[in-house]
Amino acid sequence: MMDNFIFPGLATRVVFGSGTMARAGEEVRRLGHDKVLVLSTPHQEADAQRLAASLGDLAAGIFAGAVMHTPVEVTEKAVEAFRASGASAVVSLGGGSTTGLGKAIAVRTGADQVVIPTTYAGSEMTDILGETAAGEKTTRRSPDIRPETVIYDVDLTLSLPAGLTVTSAMNAIAHAMETFYAPDRNPVVVLMCKDAMLAFHDGIPRLIDHPQDRAARAQALYAAWCCSTALGYVSMALHHKLAHVFGGSFDTPHAETHAILLPYTTAYNEAAVPDLLRPIAEAFGGGSAGGGLWDFAQSVGSPLSLKEIGIREADLDRAAAIALKNAYANPRPIDPGSIRELLQAAFEGRRPG
Ligand code: NAD
Repeated sequence: MMDNFIFPGLATRVVFGSGTMARAGEEVRRLGHDKVLVLSTPHQEADAQRLAASLGDLAAGIFAGAVMHTPVEVTEKAVEAFRASGASAVVSLGGGSTTGLGKAIAVRTGADQVVIPTTYAGSEMTDILGETAAGEKTTRRSPDIRPETVIYDVDLTLSLPAGLTVTSAMNAIAHAMETFYAPDRNPVVVLMCKDAMLAFHDGIPRLIDHPQDRAARAQALYAAWCCSTALGYVSMALHHKLAHVFGGSFDTPHAETHAILLPYTTAYNEAAVPDLLRPIAEAFGGGSAGGGLWDFAQSVGSPLSLKEIGIREADLDRAAAIALKNAYANPRPIDPGSIRELLQAAFEGRRPG
């Protein structure tokens, strides 16, 4: 029998396609704003300038200082720039770091957000903001954090480097993985996640050989939207907790950290809820969800071990201890011994059984 569920509706307006960045001005006006601050990382400043030029009088300025893991000291500078610019909304052009900065400004000032995502990280559809202060990353959820409008422009993802294409897709798959067993999942987001697994499984290998393949890029960006939407409506569990521990306390790169941990956290929970994770095993093969994801990661050149991103074996005890502090609810009980084992396997890059 179908379980009881709540489907909260979809709160964010989505414009998806190729060349859609040109619609940013129209979308800003639709929300009732006549001045926006454009946000980006330093790396994407040229794109931000192009966007600001296309916005004409709507652009009140550019803040091109977004940084990974949303450090509060950067947010404070950005809020100052936002207030000085006279803008009432932000347009965030970039990956999760830029989206995070837009959310951090919105939650402090009430600004509306138009987000133009250029990776598959999937922050754009969620009400979640992770911020880093004094070396620890904390996460909060609130309706004020959720962006009003998201413009997916496939063309902007053509420049995504091969490495980030793969790890960012794994980051998105992680959202789906935790949706499949989330106690507050609903049939709509589960369907979206199942479709996303198939789209990534098909699209990502094609992008390794042909990064400019627009159809495969569209497939991957569509899958990212599905996974982001799901994350925006469910609780996160062990996988996201561990990713936050490494990102926040060891400053590891976000997408790689998710990519490395994913087969291990999947295998860990698969032992408790194999039926719920079957869509992953079915999409990726390999006889199990964890094993299938590890095989996929290896086949597309994704990093497989924590040691590849600078974690030392001596760090694992501390990571396990932080992970056990305020642990998120998880389908399989979390105890120090089994978490330490999971981390050891992820450190070494051993294929989960
Ligand atoms: P990122 O935004 O830091 O991007 C990585 C680098 O790639 C940056 O230099 C960026 O400018 C560049 N880049 C982005 N798109 C590009 C493109 N199309 N072409 C060329 N270069 C491009 O990394 P990310 O993995 O997208 O995001 C990570 C951050 O997002 C983390 O801080 C994470 O916590 C956050 N995040 C939050 C949520 C949420 O719901 N709150 C969800 C997922 C991720």
